Amino acid sequence: MKTDFDILVVGGGLVGLTAALACAQAGFRIGVVDIEKPSAQLAAHHDGRASAISVASFRMMRALGVADALIEKKVRGDDTHAGPIRKILVSDGQAGATPSPLTLFFDSAQIADANDGEPLGYMVENRRMRHALHAEAKKCENITWIAPARIKDIIADDAKTTIVFDDDKTLSASLLVAADGRNSFVRRKAGIGVMSWPCHQKAIVTTVEHELPHGDIAHELFLPAGPFAILPLTGNRASIVWTETPRAADAAMALDDESFAAELSRRFGDFLGWVKPIAPRWCYPLSFQHAKTYVGERLVLVGDAAHAIHPIAGQGFNMGMRDGAALAEILVQARAEGRDLGDGFVLAQFEAWRKFDNTALTLACDMFNRLFSNNIAPVKHARRIGLSVVDKLPPVRQFFMKEASGQIGDLPPLLRGEAYKRRGGSGSERPGNIKRRGGSGSERPGNIKRRGGSGSDRPGGVVL
Ligand SMILES: Cc1cc2nc3c(=O)[nH]c(=O)nc-3n(C[C@H](O)[C@H](O)[C@H](O)COP(=O)(O)OP(=O)(O)OC[C@H]3O[C@@H](n4cnc5c(N)ncnc54)[C@H](O)[C@@H]3O)c2cc1C
Repeated sequence: MKTDFDILVVGGGLVGLTAALACAQAGFRIGVVDIEKPSAQLAAHHDGRASAISVASFRMMRALGVADALIEKKVRGDDTHAGPIRKILVSDGQAGATPSPLTLFFDSAQIADANDGEPLGYMVENRRMRHALHAEAKKCENITWIAPARIKDIIADDAKTTIVFDDDKTLSASLLVAADGRNSFVRRKAGIGVMSWPCHQKAIVTTVEHELPHGDIAHELFLPAGPFAILPLTGNRASIVWTETPRAADAAMALDDESFAAELSRRFGDFLGWVKPIAPRWCYPLSFQHAKTYVGERLVLVGDAAHAIHPIAGQGFNMGMRDGAALAEILVQARAEGRDLGDGFVLAQFEAWRKFDNTALTLACDMFNRLFSNNIAPVKHARRIGLSVVDKLPPVRQFFMKEASGQIGDLPPLLRGEAYKRRGGSGSERPGNIKRRGGSGSERPGNIKRRGGSGSDRPGGVVL
C-alpha cells in the first residue's frame, strides 16, 4: 500500500525530533507534524530549561550528528553549549542553613573504565538542543515538516493510518508516533488512559551567573519542600531547578527581581561567591503520569506522551531518547523481515523493550521524591544516614553512577554510539543484537476510527 510517509511523528519537540532523526537516518520516510511553527519553537523565550543528558544519550546525539553543533566550538577553543557533569554532590539541608555533613558524592573518575573517561553526562540548554536537532533534520531529505498544523482526526485501517487536519487535508503512513507531550492529543484520541498522581510541587527554573567556577559539579540539595538543583552550564553559569510547594513557588514567581535573587542566594550559600539570575524565571507544575499502554492501532507513544516524571533525577528526556532509539531499531528489524511497520507484533516489541524500564524509573523517582521532600525527623535522619552509607559502599555508588550516565539496561545501538549512517543508512542489514521481544497483535480501544482508504492532500505549512 502506497502511503505518503513510512512514519508520521506527531510532535516535533525534543523527543519527537530525536525519534524522527533516528528513523530518517535508518532510511524511513518521515513526516513531522507540529501544532507550532518551527520558528516559534526556536525562539529564545520558548523554553528556559536545560537538560542533564546522560553519557549514553550524548553518544546517541553524536551518532545522530547532533552533538557536533553542541560541541564543535570547543574545537576552536571558545564556547561550547554542552557543559560536562563530572561530579554530583547530593546533600540534605534546610534553606539558609549549612547542609548535613552526611552527603553522597559521585565522581566520574571512579567509573572511568565503563565511561571511556567521559563525564557522567552533559548539561545542555534546551534551546541549544532544539536548534541542533532542527539543523540536523533540515539536512535529511527524507524528513518533511508539516507545521503549524492542527489534527482533527486519526483513522487507522489494515493498510495505513491517516491523519485528518482541521482543513480536511489528509496524510497517511504505516505508523503514527505520538510525541506530542504530556497532554498528548493523539493518546487521548486513541483512548489510551494514564495513571497519574500529583507531587504537590512546582519547579522554578532559571539560569544564574556566579563568581567562582563550579568545577563541573552538579549539586542536588534536598530541602523540605523538594530538591534544589544547581546544574553546571558552560562558563560560570548554572541552571537552577528549585522545587517548592505550589503556593511557595507562586510566591517566589511573584517576587521582584531583587527579592528573588536574595531568596536564591540564601539557598546557594556562598560556595560559588556571588550569584546573579541572568534569565527569565519559568515555573512548571510537576506530576507523574504513565500511559496504560504504549501502543495502539498503528500507533506508538514516546517521550512525555507515554511517561512524564518529576525532574528530580533529570531523566525525562533521556527516557524519551531511549524510546526513539529502541523504536528505530525495532522498525529496522521489521523492515529487514519484510513486516508492516504498524504490525501489532512489531509494536508489542517496542512496548516490551521500553515499558518496564520506564515504569521502574518512574517509580524510583517518585519514591526518592517522597523520601526527600519532607521534614519528618525520623525520615530525615534515616535518609541522611542512607546517603552516607551509599557513599561508603563503592559498588552501590558505582551502580548509581552507571545508572546516572545511562549505562544500565538493554541499550539500543544508538545509545552505544552506533550510527545508522555508518551502518549504511538504510539499515537493511540485520543489526545483529536485537533480541526478540514478545507480543502479539493487539486490538486497542479509543476513537481512532477504522475505515477504508482515503486520498491524501498534504496540508499547507512550513516545510524545512
Ligand atoms: C523543570 C524540568 C526540568 C527537567 N530537566 C530534565 C533533565 O535535566 N534531563 C532530562 O532528561 N529531562 C528533564 N526534564 C524532562 C524533559 O524536559 C521532558 O521529558 C521532555 O522535554 C519531553 O519532551 P517531549 O518531546 O516528549 O514533549 P514536549 O517537549 O512536550 O514536546 C511536545 C511537542 O508536541 C507538540 N504538540 C503538542 N500538541 C500537539 C498536537 N495536538 N499536534 C501536533 N503537535 C503537538 C508541541 O508543540 C511540542 O513540540 C525536565 C522537565 C522539567 C519540567
